[in-house]
Amino acid sequence: MRDIGACVRRRTLPAAAVAYHRPVRKTGELVAEDVLIIGGGLAGLACGVALADRGLRCRVFEAGERLGGRAASWRDEVTGDTVDIGPHIFHSEYHNMLAFLRRLGTAQLITWQPRKVLALASKPRPVHLRHAPLPPPLSLVPSALPAPGLTMLDNLSMARLAWSGITFHEADVARLDGISAEQFLRDKGVSERMIDWWWRFAAMVVTNLPLERCSAASLLRIHALLSNYRGLHFGFGAVGLAELYATQATQAIVAAGGAVSVDAPVAGFVGGERVEGIVLADGTRIAGDVVSALPPTALKTIVPPAWRAMAPFRQLDAFEPSPYVCVYLWFDRQFRVERFWSHLYSAGRLNYDFYDLRQIRAGWQGRATVVCSNIIYSHRAHRLSDDDIVQATLRELVEGAPEAAHARLVHARVHRVPMAIPCPVTGFETARPAPESPVPGLVLAGDWVQTHLPCTMESAVKSGFMAAERVLARRGMAAQLAIASRPFDGLTWLVRKLAGVPAGPELTARS
Ligand SMILES: Cc1cc2nc3c(=O)[nH]c(=O)nc-3n(C[C@H](O)[C@H](O)[C@H](O)COP(=O)(O)OP(=O)(O)OC[C@H]3O[C@@H](n4cnc5c(N)ncnc54)[C@H](O)[C@@H]3O)c2cc1C
Repeated sequence: MRDIGACVRRRTLPAAAVAYHRPVRKTGELVAEDVLIIGGGLAGLACGVALADRGLRCRVFEAGERLGGRAASWRDEVTGDTVDIGPHIFHSEYHNMLAFLRRLGTAQLITWQPRKVLALASKPRPVHLRHAPLPPPLSLVPSALPAPGLTMLDNLSMARLAWSGITFHEADVARLDGISAEQFLRDKGVSERMIDWWWRFAAMVVTNLPLERCSAASLLRIHALLSNYRGLHFGFGAVGLAELYATQATQAIVAAGGAVSVDAPVAGFVGGERVEGIVLADGTRIAGDVVSALPPTALKTIVPPAWRAMAPFRQLDAFEPSPYVCVYLWFDRQFRVERFWSHLYSAGRLNYDFYDLRQIRAGWQGRATVVCSNIIYSHRAHRLSDDDIVQATLRELVEGAPEAAHARLVHARVHRVPMAIPCPVTGFETARPAPESPVPGLVLAGDWVQTHLPCTMESAVKSGFMAAERVLARRGMAAQLAIASRPFDGLTWLVRKLAGVPAGPELTARS
């Protein structure tokens, strides 16, 4: 186990925290802390900072050698450049994530793309989705209408679905969660051409799952979130992902008397019917309130057999990972390429979204082009060698950026990621657990916990704030930390009002 308070201190920690030092403990000794947080990803660190800001001493235990989990970054040994586990997108409705970054002083380190929402490398010509000066959800329609291969009837076939998106409410989730998104689109009269052109692509890039396996509830919620806000736009880290929060969050936790440890896997819980602490893999037992900020795949490995009959623990096996392969390509020169663009769906395709880091990272503008991309739900790539993946990625890059054919590849990295998010298959939304676990003393966090958001960085941070609220409430320190989705605006707001969909800041149950 490595306590990383020390290395953080060397950089920027305020003098008051320099005195902080953790005593070495003997194996088997039971020591007491305020709050023990398992997992040093976004959810765990957001929870730790929220609690530290309210004066609680937290210890964060991270099994890996670095913080950040599925939103980690590190230095590429050959180039010295900071690379992410894989490219990530932020958007302007990430209220919890952006509040977390503002708290840490790094919110300005997002490169926003306010005008063009998305470039699609469709054939025979690309489509550039941009907001027109129209209220949501109409603002993207003028740029989407000339999509090649689609007729006016295909566009009109979206009408009933658009209505479902505009009037979507969390109370619809239970009913829709049992239906596949593909079936739902057909039931709503969406044409097969529109399903193939847009929805197979959208399901893959936003739910990380083929359309036919995806829950209609998961897809419709994202459709509602992405189409019903004025001027929604995307952003990307101007620095490595973990550089946005890992060191700064550690500083905040340490400054409140807590600690953050890496190489510190948690192996189980202390207590039986009530959780009274944790057991580390080296046998150390530590007492305190416990927050699990683990994904379901990791939580199931430390849950005692006695809990397996209880929801949500009995469903942990049902959460299926959506794996990714992420590709980083360094070239010998600059060439013309969109900052962010995507291929449309086709069964044999490997990569969807491509990013030019030269146009994203702060200070990289003068450099040769560095492109990264995501192979989403990557089972089809797993039998390929890294070299095969790089060659296929180069071919797919040239389809969208022909000038890349004249550039020489000088370095490449392939990151194989076992899980980007848990797959939102049918039944997923109703299986997501509440933060309050059925075992007293244990609170759950992580992107997969029920936040009424898709599994994203935003959901992870929101879940961390929700877990912190539960911990504080138990101590009589009630606080509102998680930020609800803001009410839809524009035409959507008006239609929802006329249709009797309850207003309110959160897309929660109708009652
Ligand atoms: C390639 C890729 C692309 C993505 N793209 C986007 C995107 O564009 N936009 C977006 O919003 N989101 C994206 N995501 C999803 C986003 O990264 C996750 O939703 C988010 O990071 C999840 O955070 P978390 O804290 O819930 O879980 P995690 O990051 O998984 O954190 C859990 C931590 O617990 C640790 N751990 C596991 N077992 C133990 C144990 N026994 N003891 C102690 N620690 C343990 C793990 O090592 C990990 O660090 C992407 C993810 C990937 C991988």
